[in-house]
Amino acid sequence: MSGHLAVIGLGPGDARYLTPEADAALAAADALYGYGPYLDRVPARPGQSRHASDNREERPRAAAALHHAAQGARAAVVSGGDPGVFAMAAAVCEEIEWGPESWRALDVSIVPGITAMLAVAARIGAPLGHDFCALSLSDNLKPWELIERRLDAAAGAGFVIALYNPVSRARPWQLGTAFERLRRHLPASTPVIFGRAVGRADERVAVGTLDVAATMPADMATLIIVGSRETRVIARAGRLPLVYTPRAVAEVNA
Ligand code: SAH
Repeated sequence: MSGHLAVIGLGPGDARYLTPEADAALAAADALYGYGPYLDRVPARPGQSRHASDNREERPRAAAALHHAAQGARAAVVSGGDPGVFAMAAAVCEEIEWGPESWRALDVSIVPGITAMLAVAARIGAPLGHDFCALSLSDNLKPWELIERRLDAAAGAGFVIALYNPVSRARPWQLGTAFERLRRHLPASTPVIFGRAVGRADERVAVGTLDVAATMPADMATLIIVGSRETRVIARAGRLPLVYTPRAVAEVNA
């Protein structure tokens, strides 16, 4: 079987954040599959078809691309950021595991991209300079109770926490509840970073503290980094502060 499926990370923003490997993989594809706004970031190429689908249609999109690849095409699925972080690579693997045996013979490549938490962290210093974890706040694919348990465990263990999918129209209260939950473990003064649309023209980065975090604007294009007890803020006149988590932890205070 000559079919090929690439799962390609576009990075967080415009073409500056696309790796040369991802660019080459996009150029080599016969057909592109993805959420419409992500496909819009990829320049049109003659002879290449495009198949846009809704954001929530991840499994059917993966299956459609696999079917196409199984017919001998070079199909590609695009994701924002990195395709392995809350994105299409896992959906493709799931379809391969449960789909027709023949899909296991396909040539599959996952092409990494810069994930949102790294892009946001780079804008503000080094908040992920020591141990950290990433959590999706979306309870579309897991129970809210599990999210609360993971927030407790992560904050209780002293991890810096990157929050993906912090809010959507269908999930208006979860972020405020998450901040309240984190307050059980962390001081009011804990730094919280909001990075919106980083790498795009409408990028916005703001720094606050955990006690006021719920009043700061956040939407679906925002990635939030909640510091640990070690995270420090260096104020700078006329500029955003530098926020960093030192590489050494002297004592167990989690
Ligand atoms: N695969 C993507 C994440 C998909 S989940 C990645 O690796 O980045 C979608 C969430 O990612 C959004 O709700 C937001 O929290 C975050 N995100 C994606 N692009 C972003 C950007 N340019 N700036 C800030 N956050 C972003």
